[in-house]
Amino acid sequence: MTSPPSPGSSPAAPLLWIGDREPARLRWVSPHLATSFGHPREGWREPDFLRRLVDPRDFPNLQEAWQGVVSTGAPETVDFRTVSTQGALSRWTVDLSAIESSEGGWEVFGTLHPQGVEERPPPGARGVCDLELAVRELSRANHERDELINSIDGIVWEADCSFRFRFVSKQGERLLGYPLQRWYQEPDFWVRHVHPDDQRWASEYCHSAAEQGLPHEFEYRMIAADGRVVWLRDIVTVVSQDERVQGLRGIMVDVTGQHAAQEHLERTVSLLEASFDSTADGLLVVDGDGRVTACNRRFQQMWDLPEALVAQHLDAPLIEAVCERLVDPEQFTARVRELYLHPEEESFETIELRDGRVLERYSLPQRLGGAVIGRVWSFRDISLRVRAERERERLLREAHEAIQVRDDFLSIASHELKTPLTPLRLSLQVLRHMVASGQPGSLSHVDRALGQVRRLSALVNDLLDASSVGVGRLQLHCAPVSLRDLSLEVAAEFLAVSEQHPITVDAPDEELLILGDSGRLSQVLTNLVENALKYSPHGGAVRVSLVRDGADAVLSVADSGIGIPKEEQDQLFERFFRARNAPISGFGGLGVGLYICRDIVERHGGHIWMESELGQGSTFHVSLPVLATRTLHEESAPPG
Ligand code: ADP
Repeated sequence: MTSPPSPGSSPAAPLLWIGDREPARLRWVSPHLATSFGHPREGWREPDFLRRLVDPRDFPNLQEAWQGVVSTGAPETVDFRTVSTQGALSRWTVDLSAIESSEGGWEVFGTLHPQGVEERPPPGARGVCDLELAVRELSRANHERDELINSIDGIVWEADCSFRFRFVSKQGERLLGYPLQRWYQEPDFWVRHVHPDDQRWASEYCHSAAEQGLPHEFEYRMIAADGRVVWLRDIVTVVSQDERVQGLRGIMVDVTGQHAAQEHLERTVSLLEASFDSTADGLLVVDGDGRVTACNRRFQQMWDLPEALVAQHLDAPLIEAVCERLVDPEQFTARVRELYLHPEEESFETIELRDGRVLERYSLPQRLGGAVIGRVWSFRDISLRVRAERERERLLREAHEAIQVRDDFLSIASHELKTPLTPLRLSLQVLRHMVASGQPGSLSHVDRALGQVRRLSALVNDLLDASSVGVGRLQLHCAPVSLRDLSLEVAAEFLAVSEQHPITVDAPDEELLILGDSGRLSQVLTNLVENALKYSPHGGAVRVSLVRDGADAVLSVADSGIGIPKEEQDQLFERFFRARNAPISGFGGLGVGLYICRDIVERHGGHIWMESELGQGSTFHVSLPVLATRTLHEESAPPG
């Protein structure tokens, strides 16, 4: 028999036993206890093992305490001595407690605490002293080994082939929260505490590896005492003797943190992948060597890139393909080159594509741990936004212009309406004075007053007509009209009053009948002749001509007046438009005459246009579809 652990040493591995109901009969001892006493574990099971080990003076106490625990269930502590083979007495204290056996009933669980060696061997017994020294040394070595095992950040364990633990380091209790006693005591402790989802495969895997005698390593979850799920990596070796598997030995390492980190990483990657492919932006990531490390579907679609090109994973052919679609490829490539030279730089620009699209291009360095490892290119299609902005700007500009036109018109209209009022008032005042002083009224003053009234009513009529044209309500009363007669009549009216301008009329023999409103057509011609006279301030001939041009009659009024600037000619027929040289030259007008003329002409199925050179004069043409023609000769010839 070997000596027990030396007194005063406190081995970290527990010295435990589990005994029967029957006092002082052992069923199981912890490996450390067995090792400490040097008895093979089987020997401990012999019915009178304790009787032989314990000092006969103390055995009855132990038996009595044992009996007490079994019958009352209350724990007991009892001191006893053991006798070594060399006759040394070691003192012990054992805490006995009742535990429920897995097969039902009670068992006695004992935790032993060494209290020291009581009696020294007789002097001169040198061999015994050496042995005691050796035992102390062994005990110290055991203690150190236990401390080492318990300081390992993993559960060091040993079990038999049916996973019943023979040894578990203290980390088992710390990590999972179950008292070590349960690890030892419960035959299927391990399987029962493996996560339900892992129970089956983990025990099958372990069994099969053990049967084959193979060392193995696997990860599974265990449920801790507080309900936590703990991920363990179990590194297992198989203990064999004489080619027979004796049991298993291993270390369980807590890898919960690694699993959480791995899961977090996987989630982040999946989130990134989902975002990368679902974003409306085209994204391209290129490393420092010009290799494409990522490119989303949107990028491919946006630039209409063939699959084979994208599959090359090279930036150069992609840039080339992109450039083909750009309005200004040189600027783009210059910018790309510059950014490759300055990896830290961030940049943004707006680029225009040949197909009219507008993209915003962002470029940012891709960093890893502070170092730049590539560049991210992002393209956003802003065509709709740009189009809307441009449209808004156009509408705003037009609104400003409309406001300007309205303001100009109001000031012109006020001026135009006020101008005839002064001479009208003067004429009426003179007439009143003459009548009041008994003089006969002067016809010339009456005519002058009437002239101003006519001018006023013409202005008011123009305004009314312009507003009717604006809402499409200008009335036409159509009947066959001879354009030749109409031009002669209008010209005759002006001939009678025009002193400064020689007016010539060039009318054909044929009447050039059209279907139209003679009043409105006269209004058109009158307006054109009035303008010709008005915008020829230094006199000069005004020529009215009428010709046939195929199915149309073309009426023209030419003058040699101030002309119209080229860049304003296409706006001439718009409402309230006045060429810039008209007001400068001091000519009154509302800018509605030509607007009304165009409406009248077009509603007759005709067309109005002009030719003019600034400072050289203008010619206005009106073409109207001819209804029928009869020559003067035919008209006067006798029927038949
Ligand atoms: P207004 O009352 O201003 O004459 P119109 O609509 O008749 O209005 O003419 C519009 C503008 O066209 C005029 O303001 C003038 O600038 C230009 N215009 C019309 N006819 C002539 C012309 N014969 N010679 C030069 N400018 C003309």
